[in-house]
Amino acid sequence: MQVAGYIGYDLDPAAPPDVDHILLTRPMSVAAAVVRLLRCRGTWADDRQALDASAGFCAAPWTEAVIRIDGNVLPCCRNHYVYGSIERATLPEIWVSPAARSFRASVARGAFPNDACTQCYRKGKATTLASAFDSLLGQLWERYARASDAAGIALDGEMCERMAEFHAHVRSNVRGPAALSACRRALERTRLLETSLTIVEARFAVHKIGVIAQACLDFHSASPEPAIVATTRQANLVAICNARCVHCIGLYTGEIVRGEETGGRRIKRMNDTQSARALERADDMTSFFMNGSEFLLHPQWRAMTATLAATGVRLSVSTNGMLLDQRATAVLMQSGGPFEINFSFDGATKATVESIRVNVSYDRLVQNVRHFLQQLAAHRLNVPVCISMVLMRTNVAECAALVALVHDLRPDTRVDVHVSFELLETSPVEAYNRFFEQEWIDIAHPTARASLEAAAAEARRLHVRALYSGEDLADALARRAAAIAG
Ligand code: SF4
Repeated sequence: MQVAGYIGYDLDPAAPPDVDHILLTRPMSVAAAVVRLLRCRGTWADDRQALDASAGFCAAPWTEAVIRIDGNVLPCCRNHYVYGSIERATLPEIWVSPAARSFRASVARGAFPNDACTQCYRKGKATTLASAFDSLLGQLWERYARASDAAGIALDGEMCERMAEFHAHVRSNVRGPAALSACRRALERTRLLETSLTIVEARFAVHKIGVIAQACLDFHSASPEPAIVATTRQANLVAICNARCVHCIGLYTGEIVRGEETGGRRIKRMNDTQSARALERADDMTSFFMNGSEFLLHPQWRAMTATLAATGVRLSVSTNGMLLDQRATAVLMQSGGPFEINFSFDGATKATVESIRVNVSYDRLVQNVRHFLQQLAAHRLNVPVCISMVLMRTNVAECAALVALVHDLRPDTRVDVHVSFELLETSPVEAYNRFFEQEWIDIAHPTARASLEAAAAEARRLHVRALYSGEDLADALARRAAAIAG
């Protein structure tokens, strides 16, 4: 029995491979291609691996939906297959549309519906239950445990047991009758417990655990019409941005200035009718990622935040921090809803940050983030905060300094803030690629490696969590060193 033990959780799902995303998607000279291939050492061996997908090789068709700014609904962020459009139908209708059913049926029998799935599966990026729900289940459980504790009520012993069994199956990603029964047992218990819980907060959390159990059950049973409508959702709400970051692909396509080009028109933000539709069946949602550009530019962001918080949905936001002033911070704090947030820094000094993140004021960014973290501490909110940096030749020397800055910004170690380093994105956009060629740096490069090793040492010294592409930074460096040596 794991009643007492089942409280903790991992915040970070398994990291995707770090050098697997480089495809030759545009014409380039042989020399440039060779350079690019050398940079992604090791990927060809992976690419030659067998491509026999098992039945149900991806959970996304049962758990996920991406709603684009033009209203099209897609299975995930790596696939442009269209289930339908919220311009013409409701989200629940689209979820069981012939196109969605056909896509699901294909994945269920282990056949790639299209080339995007083939590539995604080949790179090990297909959605797993662990990547979708591991940290979320931990957060929901913590919410239930905290609310019960605050009310002086003991945790339900049977729920603890069922949850431990269910969560273990989610983490293992193993399919089969045992996983199916674990979902059923967890679902039964959550339904029973919900009827008896009087503390709203605890009931909410248990209810959402039940939603996840049902979504997992839909996946394990390969249901063509999953009962839960897209429990993890992303909506591309805003295309424009108030910053002009030099590594933003949208800068080179003009999207962040004039809006996204689709069907011969430019769309700057999702309209109100569609953004309301993106939240349909809000009770089915467990997490919502404000995809696209600066979410705080959407006129409805406050109302949407309130709707999500009222239904216990975890809101994920990425921001450049300029609009997250004291009033905006107060709105997020008052929502009290579970959320997670990323602040893009891309450097540790005023000169570097302002040269990369054009239109961003370093002083205001630091001031806003400091205030935000202080408010998290004051409200005792357990919100994972990420301070991110995309590695470029221009900023690579500032990795350790960013760790030190994060240490300085957090009011105390109870605030869950970490640093995350990422590589530059690749893109078929020619104008962006000229920039990419100048600025690309891989972690195997001696300068990057030395800087990241210094950052890892600083992180250890200051007790700041540092990640590289979702993986512990020190582990990632060791793994990369071993790969190169091997
Ligand atoms: S295999 Fe990849 S591209 Fe296909 S649905 Fe799953 S996550 Fe999306």
